[in-house]
Amino acid sequence: MKTYTINKVGILEIEKILEAKCKPSYFEDLNSDSFLAWAIELEDHMNENERDGCPSDQIEIAPRITESRHVEWLSVSEEGLDVKNIQWQVGHDNDASPSFGLDMFDVEEEAFDFAEKLISEGKKNVSIVRFENDSSIEELCVQCAEPIISDVVGCSFC
Ligand SMILES: [Zn+2]
Repeated sequence: MKTYTINKVGILEIEKILEAKCKPSYFEDLNSDSFLAWAIELEDHMNENERDGCPSDQIEIAPRITESRHVEWLSVSEEGLDVKNIQWQVGHDNDASPSFGLDMFDVEEEAFDFAEKLISEGKKNVSIVRFENDSSIEELCVQCAEPIISDVVGCSFC
């Protein structure tokens, strides 16, 4: 699943759009905290919609604050976004053959459901590894979903 963070370029773009679309009386009261607040609102909107499976990359600027008195839209370009693609890989040792079973999931819950299914089928050494942009970041405990710090002692949470 993709997660978006609006970077400095994106915040500058937001400032320019608000300056162009909003009433001067609204815009002149804004400061860097206001631009950041707009960025966070857009970012949250994008991430929520991504999770719900209906991506959306813009939010409304209400008619009461726009120069046009119509709804205007706020979005940022690709350069204004840092995109992280998070996936979960479920693996296990296969007793029946030397091959190693692997599967990638975009939704964390689905990865844990699959891991549970493998365990219930009697598969050994079921593991879940979190990936960011195709690099493995950390192994997660199949039982409690906390990161496993050390391979030697296993999960320190449960
Ligand atoms: Zn645990």
